[in-house]
Amino acid sequence: MKVLVTGGTGFIGSHAVVSLIEAGMKPIIVDNFDNSLPSVLENLKAITQTTVPFYKIDCNDQEAVNEVFETEKDIEGVIHFAAHKAVGESVINPLKYYQNNIGSLIVILKMMKKHQTPHLVFSSSCTVYGQPDQLPVTEHSPIIPAQSPYGNTKQICEEVIRDTVKSAQTEQDDFQLNAILLRYFNPIGAHLSGHIGELPLGVPNNLVPYIIQTAAGIREKLTIFGKDYNTPDGTCVRDYIHVMDLADAHVKALQLLVNKKQTNNTCEVFNIGTGKGNSVQELVQTFEKVNNLKLNYEFGNRRPGDVEQIYASVAKANQELGWQAQRSLEEGLRDAWNWQQKLMK
Ligand code: UDP
Repeated sequence: MKVLVTGGTGFIGSHAVVSLIEAGMKPIIVDNFDNSLPSVLENLKAITQTTVPFYKIDCNDQEAVNEVFETEKDIEGVIHFAAHKAVGESVINPLKYYQNNIGSLIVILKMMKKHQTPHLVFSSSCTVYGQPDQLPVTEHSPIIPAQSPYGNTKQICEEVIRDTVKSAQTEQDDFQLNAILLRYFNPIGAHLSGHIGELPLGVPNNLVPYIIQTAAGIREKLTIFGKDYNTPDGTCVRDYIHVMDLADAHVKALQLLVNKKQTNNTCEVFNIGTGKGNSVQELVQTFEKVNNLKLNYEFGNRRPGDVEQIYASVAKANQELGWQAQRSLEEGLRDAWNWQQKLMK
């Protein structure tokens, strides 16, 4: 089965490509290297012994996306990762985010319709839940107004997909569209080989990239944002999911779409996390322990916009996708450090 992977050289996309190949599927990558490097393609080859077809295009370029569908002919599924993802930048430059994240999805959906491609897996985010009243959050937990243009694009994209699936149900032109929206919690780690991992360009915003760069001496000190939250140790709680587990969830999602017996158009949403919350301080201490080193860190002010705590209910993913996280927090933090060390060699 040919699967178009947009943003396939990015952090999650590249790991998903490995999982797809292991599952016997045929990924085709499109990426414009906006936030990734061409070397990822070589590294993917080193892991999979496969040369993955690649097109350097922007997903907002309808002509170019159309050409990929025409060249590859029988694309059966799309995993749409390609998007801008820096929350802070989205506040400063919202139009860039609305145009790119929503525009590219619209192009992809139009081309799926034109070429009769029925299966879509979309990268959504637990940011849609904001600070939930009840934990763990289920897929039925309320969606709250987004705190940032980035978060808003994820909510709008979910709606765009739902409406497109609905319209496909009523259309006369035989377009089948089945979609799965995966709401990711906090992805961490890297491929066990250390060939691919998270490669933030510039100063990292996310916790684990900041930690590994601090451990590597690239950053002087980690600041833990806030010590006065209403959590066991006063620091924020998140659900940290190993990127290879997350990658595997995409394979399961595609398999579910393909194997669905009914022909009705459907749109399902799944939380993809471990189901367990860990505090920032716990994560730092675990990082020190598994990698046998000391991290330079201090406590600072809260970061504006951070939710206090969130972690997933993964019951639906267990039951309906047949998926659950296999890798521990320790493995995620070991693999992330292994990746950083390899980068420095
Ligand atoms: N965090 C931190 N220092 C940093 C980066 C992040 O203390 O340099 C905290 C942040 O406040 C949050 C958690 O780590 O509580 C995870 O943040 P991240 O940006 O990785 O993901 P988010 O949950 O915000 O999407």
